[in-house]
Amino acid sequence: MTEKKWIPQPKTPRTPIPEQEPEIRAHNFNEVALGYTPAMAVEEAYRCLQCKNPLCVAGCPVGIDIPKFIRAIGEGRFEDAYMALKEDNALPAVCGRVCPQEDQCEAVCIMGKKFKPVAIGRLERFAADTFIQSRHEEVFQIEPSTGKKVAVVGGGPSGLTCAGELAKKGHDVTIFEALHKAGGVLVYGIPEFRLPKKIVELEVNNLRKMGVTINTSYVIGKLFTVDELMEEEGFDAVYIATGAGLPYFMKIPGENFNGVYSANEFLTRSNLMRAFDFPETDTPIHIGKRAAVVGGGNVAMDSARTALRLGCEEVYIVYRRSEAELPARLEEVHHAQQEGINFQLLTNPIAIKGDDKGWVKSMECIRMELGEPDSSGRRRPVPIENSEFEFPVDIVVMAIGQGPNPLVQETTKGMETNRWGNIQADDNGYTTKKGVFAGGDIVTGAATVILAMGAGKLAAEAMDNYLKTGEWPSVD
Ligand SMILES: Cc1cc2nc3c(=O)[nH]c(=O)nc-3n(C[C@H](O)[C@H](O)[C@H](O)COP(=O)(O)OP(=O)(O)OC[C@H]3O[C@@H](n4cnc5c(N)ncnc54)[C@H](O)[C@@H]3O)c2cc1C
Ligand code: SF4
Repeated sequence: MTEKKWIPQPKTPRTPIPEQEPEIRAHNFNEVALGYTPAMAVEEAYRCLQCKNPLCVAGCPVGIDIPKFIRAIGEGRFEDAYMALKEDNALPAVCGRVCPQEDQCEAVCIMGKKFKPVAIGRLERFAADTFIQSRHEEVFQIEPSTGKKVAVVGGGPSGLTCAGELAKKGHDVTIFEALHKAGGVLVYGIPEFRLPKKIVELEVNNLRKMGVTINTSYVIGKLFTVDELMEEEGFDAVYIATGAGLPYFMKIPGENFNGVYSANEFLTRSNLMRAFDFPETDTPIHIGKRAAVVGGGNVAMDSARTALRLGCEEVYIVYRRSEAELPARLEEVHHAQQEGINFQLLTNPIAIKGDDKGWVKSMECIRMELGEPDSSGRRRPVPIENSEFEFPVDIVVMAIGQGPNPLVQETTKGMETNRWGNIQADDNGYTTKKGVFAGGDIVTGAATVILAMGAGKLAAEAMDNYLKTGEWPSVD
């Protein structure tokens, strides 16, 4: 069959994605971006040049054949587009929504040299949503049973991806997840208005259909240790993907007042425990009128926008560097600004003040300026003398980063960690303990969904090899 001729339309402007209006969406938890219609998707697809040497593929951490899936969309073969995505990405509906494409595939898209890059993420989301909405049942190719049992500790994107790949290879896979729902940050951290939970549930159900057992409310390190899983419960190998869920605090006076949350707790209460529906649900959340969110990453933007939707009248982002250094995705910053979040940039908290009943009443900050670059290459924020000021707040959300929870590392004999407490593992997930693999945020520190998934996929390959050959490399 001769291929249809592809005539790109590079001069067509990048197709905007329809969104809820800021003043409406600031009061609901529905998704902000509404997605392309088929006509919009086809128009955007034709902006792609179908490059012979597609830099976008090199820019994608899992090497998706981007021109292939875009061409399929342009030619109206939407199911083929989805299948092309699925070859390299287990969760395209998730990644189309949350991946930082502006730093990855779209950052290097050739179109970006002269015009705006092709909207690869939006097209990925379109292909995945169209497949899901068409109610096509996924067909899974599962190899004959190998008789090997594998435990996956942690049901976030890394654990889910690894479990799916291992199940396809015929292994008997059980996920142990500490929370009452699988999905990791995708269900407890990233809010509904960015990532509808039904998408994650669908992917988790697909794993069940593939034969994966998902045990929720199982805290490994308490209920069973990794050693017990292997020595007493009959698992031949274990993949640890417990993420970076341990919140950091600033260690400033007043962090113990009522109304100071870690972003992790704040978002979990709202997303997973559905505190916004209290007392219909069991978990309350104290909000007040004014919220200060400390930090400048995605977690800070999610917390600020959640506080707004929960009913806070004034929400501040307090960040010690300038707008150019904000680590959050550009789109999230833009959305937060549109929704009226007040950015206090070059500002650092120095104390939280409380009332005589122990509740937060204000925050004391100091203005900063940027000095010489530090070891990260970014200019170091330096306090400006005598610039202290105080402003009233009812809650404070600390979103300054998360580290590894030490439980599994401390209860697993002979598995080494690095100086930050992350598990030491090579690129294929081999740890220093035979039979135990690890990947995702627990190895790299807080990173991205796609990197965690990529690690899960590579580890599944290595585990399959180990289960078949028993070979184990030395890992330093
Ligand atoms: C609020 C927020 C917003 C983010 N936004 C983005 C974004 O827009 N784009 C992006 O790419 N990345 C984003 N990230 C980062 C991304 O979500 C993470 O990099 C990714 O989820 C890491 O995947 P993981 O599977 O390694 O860990 P996680 O998603 O953290 O999953 C780990 C799982 O292990 C479970 N667990 C932990 N300890 C145990 C135990 N002892 N026993 C059993 N289970 C255990 C946890 O409950 C959790 O479900 C965001 C992170 C947060 C917190
Ligand atoms: S680099 Fe851009 S224009 Fe080229 S194939 Fe990839 S998406 Fe299309």
